[in-house]
Amino acid sequence: MSQEERDLSAYLEGIAAAEDDSPGEEPPPEDSEAEPPAVQEDEEVGSFTLGKCNYCGREWGVTLEGAKGGGYPTQKTANAAATRVCDCPEAVENRKPEIGVAFAVTTGACRYCGQLQEVGPHPSQTAADETVTEVCSCPSARTARRIAEQIEDAQSRVNRLFGEGAEALGFKPIAGDGAIELLERVVELIARGPISSASLNIRGQCKAKFSITSKGKIKVSRSETRSCDLEAGE
Ligand SMILES: [Zn+2]
Ligand SMILES: [Zn+2]
Repeated sequence: MSQEERDLSAYLEGIAAAEDDSPGEEPPPEDSEAEPPAVQEDEEVGSFTLGKCNYCGREWGVTLEGAKGGGYPTQKTANAAATRVCDCPEAVENRKPEIGVAFAVTTGACRYCGQLQEVGPHPSQTAADETVTEVCSCPSARTARRIAEQIEDAQSRVNRLFGEGAEALGFKPIAGDGAIELLERVVELIARGPISSASLNIRGQCKAKFSITSKGKIKVSRSETRSCDLEAGE
Protein backbone atom coordinates (compact mmCIF):
# COMPACT_ATOMS: atom_id res chain seq x y z
CA MET A 1 0.00 0.00 0.00
CA SER A 2 1.36 3.42 -0.85
CA GLN A 3 1.23 6.20 1.69
CA GLU A 4 -1.46 8.00 -0.23
CA GLU A 5 -3.69 4.97 -0.41
CA ARG A 6 -3.41 4.34 3.30
CA ASP A 7 -4.30 7.91 4.13
CA LEU A 8 -7.28 7.88 1.84
CA SER A 9 -8.82 4.78 3.30
CA ALA A 10 -8.22 6.02 6.81
CA TYR A 11 -10.06 9.17 5.87
CA LEU A 12 -12.94 7.20 4.44
CA GLU A 13 -13.24 4.95 7.43
CA GLY A 14 -13.39 8.09 9.50
CA ILE A 15 -16.41 9.19 7.53
CA ALA A 16 -18.05 5.80 7.86
CA ALA A 17 -17.45 5.75 11.58
CA ALA A 18 -18.73 9.29 11.98
CA GLU A 19 -21.87 8.37 10.12
CA ASP A 20 -22.36 5.25 12.08
CA ASP A 21 -24.23 6.63 15.00
CA SER A 22 -26.72 9.12 13.81
CA PRO A 23 -27.78 10.67 10.52
CA GLY A 24 -28.74 13.81 12.44
CA GLU A 25 -26.69 16.96 12.73
CA GLU A 26 -25.84 16.65 16.38
CA PRO A 27 -24.42 13.38 17.59
CA PRO A 28 -26.16 12.19 20.75
CA PRO A 29 -24.11 11.97 23.92
CA GLU A 30 -22.17 8.71 24.15
CA ASP A 31 -24.04 7.09 26.99
CA SER A 32 -27.51 7.68 25.55
CA GLU A 33 -26.67 4.94 23.01
CA ALA A 34 -28.30 2.05 24.82
CA GLU A 35 -31.63 3.69 25.60
CA PRO A 36 -33.18 5.29 22.50
CA PRO A 37 -34.93 2.23 20.99
CA ALA A 38 -37.26 1.86 23.97
CA VAL A 39 -38.08 5.56 23.96
CA GLN A 40 -38.80 5.59 20.24
CA GLU A 41 -41.02 2.56 20.43
CA ASP A 42 -43.13 3.97 23.20
CA GLU A 43 -43.79 6.99 21.06
CA GLU A 44 -44.75 4.86 18.11
CA VAL A 45 -47.97 3.54 19.56
CA GLY A 46 -49.47 6.95 19.89
CA SER A 47 -52.80 8.59 19.88
CA PHE A 48 -52.91 11.12 17.09
CA THR A 49 -55.89 13.41 17.24
CA LEU A 50 -54.63 16.05 14.83
CA GLY A 51 -54.22 15.25 11.15
CA LYS A 52 -53.12 17.27 8.16
CA CYS A 53 -54.94 17.15 4.84
CA ASN A 54 -52.67 15.48 2.30
CA TYR A 55 -53.67 18.03 -0.33
CA CYS A 56 -53.96 21.46 1.29
CA GLY A 57 -52.13 20.80 4.56
CA ARG A 58 -54.91 22.19 6.72
CA GLU A 59 -55.14 20.61 10.16
CA TRP A 60 -58.24 18.86 11.42
CA GLY A 61 -59.08 17.36 14.76
CA VAL A 62 -59.78 13.66 14.25
CA THR A 63 -60.98 11.00 16.65
CA LEU A 64 -61.09 7.27 16.34
CA GLU A 65 -63.86 5.57 18.24
CA GLY A 66 -62.83 2.53 20.20
CA ALA A 67 -59.14 3.35 20.10
CA LYS A 68 -56.94 3.85 23.13
CA GLY A 69 -56.79 7.58 23.77
CA GLY A 70 -59.40 8.22 21.11
CA GLY A 71 -56.80 9.04 18.45
CA TYR A 72 -55.31 7.34 15.45
CA PRO A 73 -52.35 5.01 15.96
CA THR A 74 -50.02 6.77 13.52
CA GLN A 75 -49.61 10.26 12.08
CA LYS A 76 -50.19 8.74 8.65
CA THR A 77 -53.60 7.34 9.55
CA ALA A 78 -54.54 10.61 11.28
CA ASN A 79 -53.58 12.49 8.12
CA ALA A 80 -55.68 10.11 6.04
CA ALA A 81 -58.63 10.78 8.34
CA ALA A 82 -58.08 14.54 8.04
CA THR A 83 -57.95 14.21 4.27
CA ARG A 84 -61.29 12.40 4.35
CA VAL A 85 -63.00 15.25 6.19
CA CYS A 86 -61.22 18.18 4.52
CA ASP A 87 -63.38 20.28 2.23
CA CYS A 88 -60.67 21.62 -0.07
CA PRO A 89 -61.38 20.93 -3.77
CA GLU A 90 -58.54 18.38 -4.18
CA ALA A 91 -59.61 16.35 -1.17
CA VAL A 92 -63.26 16.39 -2.26
CA GLU A 93 -62.32 15.42 -5.80
CA ASN A 94 -59.97 12.62 -4.79
CA ARG A 95 -62.14 10.87 -2.25
CA LYS A 96 -65.11 10.40 -4.56
CA PRO A 97 -64.07 7.18 -6.28
CA GLU A 98 -62.92 5.37 -3.15
CA ILE A 99 -65.49 6.46 -0.63
CA GLY A 100 -67.28 3.10 -0.87
CA VAL A 101 -64.25 1.03 0.06
CA ALA A 102 -62.48 3.63 2.20
CA PHE A 103 -64.83 3.04 5.08
CA ALA A 104 -65.09 -0.69 4.69
CA VAL A 105 -62.34 -1.92 7.02
CA THR A 106 -61.58 -0.32 10.37
CA THR A 107 -60.02 -3.21 12.28
CA GLY A 108 -56.77 -4.93 11.48
CA ALA A 109 -54.76 -7.84 12.85
CA CYS A 110 -51.05 -7.85 13.63
CA ARG A 111 -49.23 -10.06 11.16
CA TYR A 112 -47.12 -11.53 13.97
CA CYS A 113 -49.33 -12.00 17.02
CA GLY A 114 -52.79 -11.66 15.48
CA GLN A 115 -53.93 -9.06 18.01
CA LEU A 116 -56.84 -6.99 16.69
CA GLN A 117 -56.80 -3.24 16.85
CA GLU A 118 -59.06 -0.41 15.77
CA VAL A 119 -57.16 1.71 13.23
CA GLY A 120 -59.81 3.69 11.39
CA PRO A 121 -61.03 3.33 7.83
CA HIS A 122 -58.68 1.55 5.43
CA PRO A 123 -59.23 0.67 1.78
CA SER A 124 -58.55 -3.02 2.34
CA GLN A 125 -58.01 -5.63 5.03
CA THR A 126 -54.38 -5.91 3.99
CA ALA A 127 -53.87 -2.17 4.49
CA ALA A 128 -55.55 -2.28 7.91
CA ASP A 129 -53.43 -5.28 8.94
CA GLU A 130 -50.35 -3.40 7.83
CA THR A 131 -51.16 -0.41 10.02
CA VAL A 132 -51.78 -2.63 13.04
CA THR A 133 -48.49 -4.43 12.40
CA GLU A 134 -46.79 -1.02 12.24
CA VAL A 135 -48.04 -0.04 15.68
CA CYS A 136 -48.35 -3.37 17.52
CA SER A 137 -46.13 -3.65 20.57
CA CYS A 138 -45.55 -7.41 20.48
CA PRO A 139 -41.86 -8.45 20.41
CA SER A 140 -41.93 -9.75 16.82
CA ALA A 141 -43.51 -6.58 15.45
CA ARG A 142 -40.98 -4.48 17.37
CA THR A 143 -38.09 -6.53 16.05
CA ALA A 144 -39.42 -6.30 12.50
CA ARG A 145 -39.68 -2.52 12.80
CA ARG A 146 -36.18 -2.25 14.20
CA ILE A 147 -34.78 -4.34 11.34
CA ALA A 148 -36.72 -2.38 8.73
CA GLU A 149 -35.38 0.85 10.22
CA GLN A 150 -31.83 -0.50 10.25
CA ILE A 151 -32.11 -1.53 6.60
CA GLU A 152 -33.49 1.82 5.54
CA ASP A 153 -30.82 3.67 7.45
CA ALA A 154 -27.93 1.59 6.07
CA GLN A 155 -29.32 1.76 2.54
CA SER A 156 -29.39 5.52 2.72
CA ARG A 157 -25.71 5.40 3.71
CA VAL A 158 -25.03 3.14 0.74
CA ASN A 159 -26.58 5.78 -1.46
CA ARG A 160 -24.60 8.57 0.14
CA LEU A 161 -21.33 6.71 -0.32
CA PHE A 162 -21.87 5.01 -3.66
CA GLY A 163 -24.97 6.45 -5.30
CA GLU A 164 -26.13 9.87 -6.40
CA GLY A 165 -25.24 11.35 -3.03
CA ALA A 166 -21.57 10.35 -3.33
CA GLU A 167 -20.57 13.63 -4.94
CA ALA A 168 -21.34 15.53 -1.77
CA LEU A 169 -18.62 13.48 -0.07
CA GLY A 170 -16.16 14.01 -2.91
CA PHE A 171 -16.68 10.62 -4.59
CA LYS A 172 -17.96 9.60 -7.96
CA PRO A 173 -21.23 7.70 -7.97
CA ILE A 174 -20.43 4.13 -9.00
CA ALA A 175 -21.37 3.11 -12.49
CA GLY A 176 -22.89 -0.14 -13.60
CA ASP A 177 -26.38 -1.48 -13.78
CA GLY A 178 -27.50 -3.20 -10.64
CA ALA A 179 -24.38 -2.44 -8.59
CA ILE A 180 -26.14 -0.16 -6.09
CA GLU A 181 -29.01 -2.62 -5.88
CA LEU A 182 -26.57 -5.37 -4.97
CA LEU A 183 -25.02 -3.25 -2.22
CA GLU A 184 -28.48 -2.48 -0.88
CA ARG A 185 -29.31 -6.17 -0.93
CA VAL A 186 -26.13 -6.97 1.01
CA VAL A 187 -27.14 -4.47 3.68
CA GLU A 188 -30.54 -6.11 3.91
CA LEU A 189 -29.07 -9.58 4.36
CA ILE A 190 -26.74 -8.30 7.06
CA ALA A 191 -29.67 -6.72 8.91
CA ARG A 192 -31.74 -9.88 8.61
CA GLY A 193 -28.91 -12.09 9.79
CA PRO A 194 -27.62 -14.53 7.19
CA ILE A 195 -24.53 -12.47 6.29
CA SER A 196 -22.23 -10.97 8.91
CA SER A 197 -19.81 -9.03 6.76
CA ALA A 198 -18.96 -8.50 3.10
CA SER A 199 -16.39 -6.87 0.93
CA LEU A 200 -16.92 -6.12 -2.74
CA ASN A 201 -14.68 -4.68 -5.42
CA ILE A 202 -16.33 -2.24 -7.76
CA ARG A 203 -14.34 -2.68 -10.93
CA GLY A 204 -11.89 0.12 -11.49
CA GLN A 205 -13.48 2.33 -8.89
CA CYS A 206 -13.44 1.34 -5.27
CA LYS A 207 -14.00 -1.20 -2.57
CA ALA A 208 -17.19 -1.52 -0.56
CA LYS A 209 -17.00 -3.00 2.92
CA PHE A 210 -19.85 -3.95 5.18
CA SER A 211 -19.63 -5.04 8.77
CA ILE A 212 -21.45 -4.88 12.07
CA THR A 213 -20.07 -2.73 14.85
CA SER A 214 -19.86 -3.89 18.44
CA LYS A 215 -23.04 -1.90 19.05
CA GLY A 216 -24.84 -3.97 16.44
CA LYS A 217 -24.96 -1.25 13.82
CA ILE A 218 -24.24 -1.80 10.16
CA LYS A 219 -21.08 -0.05 9.06
CA VAL A 220 -20.68 0.84 5.41
CA SER A 221 -17.33 2.02 4.10
CA ARG A 222 -15.92 2.96 0.76
CA SER A 223 -12.24 3.02 -0.07
CA GLU A 224 -10.76 4.14 -3.33
CA THR A 225 -8.18 1.82 -4.83
CA ARG A 226 -6.04 4.53 -6.30
CA SER A 227 -2.33 4.86 -6.05
CA CYS A 228 0.23 6.89 -7.86
CA ASP A 229 3.99 6.42 -8.12
CA LEU A 230 6.26 8.81 -9.91
CA GLU A 231 9.85 7.86 -10.42
CA ALA A 232 12.68 10.24 -11.14
CA GLY A 233 12.60 11.36 -14.75
CA GLU A 234 8.90 10.62 -15.36
ZN1 LIG B 1 -57.50 19.80 2.18
ZN1 LIG C 1 -48.27 -8.03 17.24
